[in-house]
Amino acid sequence: MTSSPAALRSRDNDHVWHPFTPMSAYRDEGAPIIERGEGFHLIDVEGRRYLDGISSLWCNVHGHRVPEIDAAVRDQLDHVAHSTLLGLSSPPSIELAARLAAATPSGLNRVFYSDSGSTAVEAALKIVYQYHQQKRSNPQHRDLFATVGGAYHGDTIGSVSVGSIDLFHRTYGKLLFSTVSVPSPSALRVPKGHTPESFLQHCFDEVERVVAENHERLAAFVIEPLVQGASGILVHPPGYLKHVRDVTRRYDVPLIADEVAVGFSRTGTMFACEQEDVRPDLMCLAKGITGGYLPLAATLATDEIYDAFLADPAEGKTFYHGHTYTGNPLACAAALASLDLFEKNDVLSNVHRNEQILSECLAGLRNHPHVAEVRQKGIMIGIELVADRETLEPFPAERRTGHRVTLAARGRDTIVRPLGDVVVLMPAPAMPGELVEKLCATTCEAIDDAVRN
Ligand code: PMP
Repeated sequence: MTSSPAALRSRDNDHVWHPFTPMSAYRDEGAPIIERGEGFHLIDVEGRRYLDGISSLWCNVHGHRVPEIDAAVRDQLDHVAHSTLLGLSSPPSIELAARLAAATPSGLNRVFYSDSGSTAVEAALKIVYQYHQQKRSNPQHRDLFATVGGAYHGDTIGSVSVGSIDLFHRTYGKLLFSTVSVPSPSALRVPKGHTPESFLQHCFDEVERVVAENHERLAAFVIEPLVQGASGILVHPPGYLKHVRDVTRRYDVPLIADEVAVGFSRTGTMFACEQEDVRPDLMCLAKGITGGYLPLAATLATDEIYDAFLADPAEGKTFYHGHTYTGNPLACAAALASLDLFEKNDVLSNVHRNEQILSECLAGLRNHPHVAEVRQKGIMIGIELVADRETLEPFPAERRTGHRVTLAARGRDTIVRPLGDVVVLMPAPAMPGELVEKLCATTCEAIDDAVRN
């Protein structure tokens, strides 16, 4: 027997601890309980349909209940559902690894599976740390990571260590390992004494200085290529990623590209690194990898890194790391079907059309008295709301203006989830243009409501 919506809500409040959610406020708000997905809509237990403006958690690609992906998962269910990568292997995990190696920037031939963006980053950090210890030609101890200010790389302790979003990370300070960071080259609030141009130059110079001063200890430089997602869709200036690659290569410091959020077409190319012709040493993928269907992640590495782990087991050079559900064949089958759909439906062309629609439909917001900036890269959007557009003074935090946008959009049958007072739009890459237009119109109305009331 199915429970009534009221009974479900009461049990949700009694038992479910939601991620990234202030629970006392959540309990009073009656969030939709989603029972079904259909195309680009989510439908709750009361039958109300919502347009999904954030691709679930930035991961949906082709919509929900996609016949080809459903069929691939069902077919795999008829074979085996369990992960079989510990000393064994499985056809979909093998096929997917080969497809990923071919699709990503050249040189990334080795695929280490895990199941979330955080674990993909965690694996990259541990792999590169161990790699330096095992490099035959140049054994050295490198125990420091370089990061970009305001980065977000996940929630596990290693990935938190290389992140620096105060709200998420400050509590865990004493548990974290040390890092050095360069300022984020995002030009909205430039420090005193700088013009936007001089600040950007400073940011480029800081990459050189920090890497030069620390290169002997640097295990890697970790970066979200082109866009820092969780810190509010901060778009890096052209050439920045390439500059980081050039400097790290010159000082022989490996580069970890965290493409968890930007990968699988969201910035307009299949992988963000392609736009600056950057070949990282390690690349982290998750979110869109299965079209958003099932938990799966991959850390891709170069042969050079992988080869440092090949040795007599007695030498202890094995990477002793992995998870029970790693490289799950159901998830790998979904990922293979998703990659096929990218080609069959020419999803990248749809991304380019939607990029244009988003830019045109949100243009009016650029003069809105409470909008500091509309940031866009591909189909990733961040609309920063402020109390005063001239001084950039924020709204008081307790007003929860961004959250008010969520509620106002929900009242208009649309799901968005801001980051603080930055309204994030992250339509699925395959969303039809009419729905993207509708999403923009609703968001503009919801912003008007939220800043007024
Ligand atoms: N890296 C980046 C750049 C991300 O945006 C995220 C999630 N938003 C993660 C890592 C962590 O991914 P997950 O939530 O799947 O652990």
